[in-house]
Amino acid sequence: MTSKEKKKVQFVIKSSKFCNLRCRYCYEYAELGNREAIAPEQLDKMYAHIASYYSRLDCPVDIQFIWHGGEPLLQHPDYYWQTFDRQQQFFGELSSSVTNTVQTNLTVLNKQHIHLLREGFDGVGVSVDLFGGLRVNQAEVDSLEIVLANMDRLRSEKVNFGCITVLTKLNLSYVEEIYKFYEKTKIPFRVLPLFNGAFDGQHQGYEISASEVLNAYRTLFDLWLESKNPVIVRPIVDYIKQVIRHYTSNAKPDFYNKREWEYIYLVNVNGDVYSYADAYNSEFCHGNLFTTPMENIIFGSGHEKAIIAAEKRMASACHSCEYFGSCSGYPIAEESVIHNQVDADGNAHCTKEKGILQYIEKRLKETGIINPITRQVNIKQEYISKHILGLDIAV
Ligand code: SF4
Repeated sequence: MTSKEKKKVQFVIKSSKFCNLRCRYCYEYAELGNREAIAPEQLDKMYAHIASYYSRLDCPVDIQFIWHGGEPLLQHPDYYWQTFDRQQQFFGELSSSVTNTVQTNLTVLNKQHIHLLREGFDGVGVSVDLFGGLRVNQAEVDSLEIVLANMDRLRSEKVNFGCITVLTKLNLSYVEEIYKFYEKTKIPFRVLPLFNGAFDGQHQGYEISASEVLNAYRTLFDLWLESKNPVIVRPIVDYIKQVIRHYTSNAKPDFYNKREWEYIYLVNVNGDVYSYADAYNSEFCHGNLFTTPMENIIFGSGHEKAIIAAEKRMASACHSCEYFGSCSGYPIAEESVIHNQVDADGNAHCTKEKGILQYIEKRLKETGIINPITRQVNIKQEYISKHILGLDIAV
């Protein structure tokens, strides 16, 4: 590696699958009662392997740990305080480039959690769907009320957070209400289309098609565009950036190159590492980060297999796409499998992303923000910084 450009890598850590909720769509559903957690010594081994590899590269690297579950806040806060201390020891000079974010269902929240979320983690993501009633506890009681109350508490305690709302058939007709809620509360959020479940038939009754997702994206974009005080809504603002880049003559093209650099690794409770697209598919397991050096994982046969499959998906959909270079192709490489946009031959179909890019382009031309003749973008840089680039938080 010779480039001095700063790079970024994320490790999504499944600290434990244990959870107090039983969200009906959860892809960890079968394991939510399992209390097993990654042991501190295993985390140490993982840090040693990661630190050893990234500290030897000839470029600066931001290393982000994203703590996932199950419900990660069911581990005692000391679990995290101790591991943050251990990170300092293992990463040494690299420590200033290491950050930790957590994705929580926010159903358990005491003073210790608030302290941990405010002072320990660098970013907090809250999972809340607002409508649909799929995020239930073991007694099938909707968790929404308690989560909203805890969100209020976080806000009054000045803990910054963003939200993730999973899009299903059951909250699809509430997209406007969802946007207005976040706009009013000024909470940045991400909509996440329903992804593959833990078993066949899990999503029966609330499955959502790619064209339904696309319609929801269009509505969200229009709401964002018409809003006087737009809120950061992902992935919509990312798509807006891509369309603006498409019309920026000197913009550096952005091509997702999984072979050269992997952005996200998922680390299971047992240390097994996967690409996002092939999570828990043993055929594509890259190796075990508790026992194996990072370079062996990166250059191993499991990773190579995942790279070849992702390259095939990109070749089938992205190489002929007019947006390729403005859009990096990442959605097809890493997200098309879990969103069922890949056929039996391994070829991908880009309905959602290409569709929303085309829609945004059309709407920005209609509103005069993009001049179709001069190809100039008439939008102030401050506006882009404030409403499109937004806050760098864990959504
Ligand atoms: S819009 Fe879809 S097909 Fe086009 S580059 Fe992006 S991911 Fe690939």
